Amino acid sequence: MKESLTDKVTSLAKRRGFYWQAYEAYGGVGGFYVLGDLGTKLKDNIVRLWKKMFLDKYGFIEIESPTIGPYVVFEASGHVGSFKDAMSECLKCHNKYRADHLLAEQGIQVSESTRLDVLEHLMNENKILCPECRQSSWRVTAFLTMFQTNIGPYSENIGFLRPETAQGMFVEFKQIYESNRGKMPLGVAQIGKAYRNEISPRQGLIRLREFSQIELEFFFNPNNNSCEYLHQVDDIKMNILDEKKVARGDEIPYRLSAKEAIDKGYIIQPWLAFFMALSQKFLNELGVKSEFQRFKAKLEGERAHYSAQTYDQEVLTEKYGWIEVAGHAYRQDYDLKSHTLKGSIDMYVVEELKEPMREKKTLAYVNSKRVKDEFNGKASEIFVEISKYDPKTLAQKLNEVGKIELEGVVLGREYFTLKEVEETISTRKFIPHVVEPSFGIERIICATLEHAYSERENRVILSLKEDIAPYKFAVFPLVKKDGLDEKAKEVFNMIKAEGISVLYDDDGSIGRRYARVDEIGVPNAITIDYQTLEDDTVTVRKRDTWDQNRVKISEVLKT
Ligand code: AMP
Repeated sequence: MKESLTDKVTSLAKRRGFYWQAYEAYGGVGGFYVLGDLGTKLKDNIVRLWKKMFLDKYGFIEIESPTIGPYVVFEASGHVGSFKDAMSECLKCHNKYRADHLLAEQGIQVSESTRLDVLEHLMNENKILCPECRQSSWRVTAFLTMFQTNIGPYSENIGFLRPETAQGMFVEFKQIYESNRGKMPLGVAQIGKAYRNEISPRQGLIRLREFSQIELEFFFNPNNNSCEYLHQVDDIKMNILDEKKVARGDEIPYRLSAKEAIDKGYIIQPWLAFFMALSQKFLNELGVKSEFQRFKAKLEGERAHYSAQTYDQEVLTEKYGWIEVAGHAYRQDYDLKSHTLKGSIDMYVVEELKEPMREKKTLAYVNSKRVKDEFNGKASEIFVEISKYDPKTLAQKLNEVGKIELEGVVLGREYFTLKEVEETISTRKFIPHVVEPSFGIERIICATLEHAYSERENRVILSLKEDIAPYKFAVFPLVKKDGLDEKAKEVFNMIKAEGISVLYDDDGSIGRRYARVDEIGVPNAITIDYQTLEDDTVTVRKRDTWDQNRVKISEVLKT
């Protein structure tokens, strides 16, 4: 069988040290990878480009929060309850796999909301074979994919390794907001490791248990959600499969700009549309052309618990087909609201209105007689507790959760009288809404490498864009004698002194050296020959065209 591009890239990555599976000395552990010198340089360059395009240009900011969080944070965020995958266990050999993946391999598509008993039935009914023992007897259960640990020496003090970097930005929102002098809208990014205890990762760098995310939480006022930068992405046409197309199985996308997609109602938040278009441009800059990218809506049952709309940004790969490299979600006020309800800091911000306005609001007053009648001696304690809330907050809580929880007592709506009033206001409190572009760096590395890979005359060329290439220059002495090597070292040191990444290679024929740097994506190779000693000129060979030009050493960095 012909080797796929994806497999060729994987073997190149290992051979030349972009990345490889970790712990090979102990047989390898699925889902853990090492980035080598080339991989870390490529990753750093990708991250730098991202920061330039998403943060620096817009004055958005970055934070770094812990990778371990206490149980309560992930309980409030909804992860403890729903960050689970359906796990099928072979009842003969007890190996475990993702049920949806085994079914998909046999052409049976299920969704993330398909019930466990239905999955179990499908696995057994369709006689899905266990990849290990080739039997087909299955039990399907839910598996929490967060890594659990203990914080300190107390077994009851449960913590989790974060499954996304996002929660750090939500839990710390109030502090971030205040230290940025109440700026709204506010873009906050976090770049770092995320951990997911994937059930049976078998797709190399695409499905990892420890991976790196770039996440941007964009907090905005839901009463004023227009995006001032939309015109900047007018020229970017996105391939969009909206929910209706996805539900019909229609794979032919609309080609629309962000503004057109909003006008047609395919994207419900302007900022979401803006970041989607910007993200397409980001991947263009990494070398992935627009025709190999698309945005696919997630159907209601497949979306994460916090999302009102999600588009997966996908890139076409030869082996795995379309893979998700980024998720673009409208998280609404889900996370900030949950942390307000469960935590001790409220995540509201106050907006000064341009002009005072009339606002209707609901106030709740406790029905004292009923409380006295039903709670006797405890009533006065209850009144003290209730007096800590103002009537508007009480009404809000009753609307949101239907009850007020006090020390040891729960009061439902029936203990309150609700009144509608109208008043003039000059400020308004709101919980910011959030849209989130969330990128997986390793998947972006895979997509970037695959789309840069080509072969010419039996040689591999990695056409990485100059901005992200791990090494920008290579320096070769034609031969290792007659002072050519010393001159080459001089040129090498000159480039290094400029802070530009450069390789030195004096091993083997020039042709072999060109081939070696072509396959790791070095855009410029400089050769020092006998003429260099006479007139200080060198040849600069371009990786993509193999053209060679003679230039002065002093001009080399301008090529
Ligand atoms: P999600 O929060 O699931 O939308 O993930 C956001 C991004 O993280 C995805 O678009 C992927 O690029 C990346 N990602 C998620 N899970 C994994 C994984 N197990 N291995 C590598 N990358 C992942």
